[in-house]
Amino acid sequence: MAKSSDTLTWLYLLAAQSAFIFVLQAIIGFATNSLELKSDLVHSGIDLLTYGFNALVEWMKLYAFATGLRFLQPHVIDEVGSVISVGVLITMMFFCDQFRS
Ligand SMILES: [Zn+2]
Repeated sequence: MAKSSDTLTWLYLLAAQSAFIFVLQAIIGFATNSLELKSDLVHSGIDLLTYGFNALVEWMKLYAFATGLRFLQPHVIDEVGSVISVGVLITMMFFCDQFRS
């Protein structure tokens, strides 16, 4: 269990740093009207959403363990979360491939 909450702390830190980068990039990007910074906001935003999502899945797993939820077992949360994460990754790979020259 200690290992799992270490993972959660790590995911919270990742989500927090990507939120920080997103906000900083937005402020500097719009202040300087930099197209590079503004267009990379999509990338930072997706990083923020996916790290946040993984933190949520990890938190839900620990919550399910702690409360002994029967209808949503930790391994089901883990599996659904993993499938969604891989789905997002594959979608992004296809999306990026469209813009390759
Ligand atoms: Zn990234």
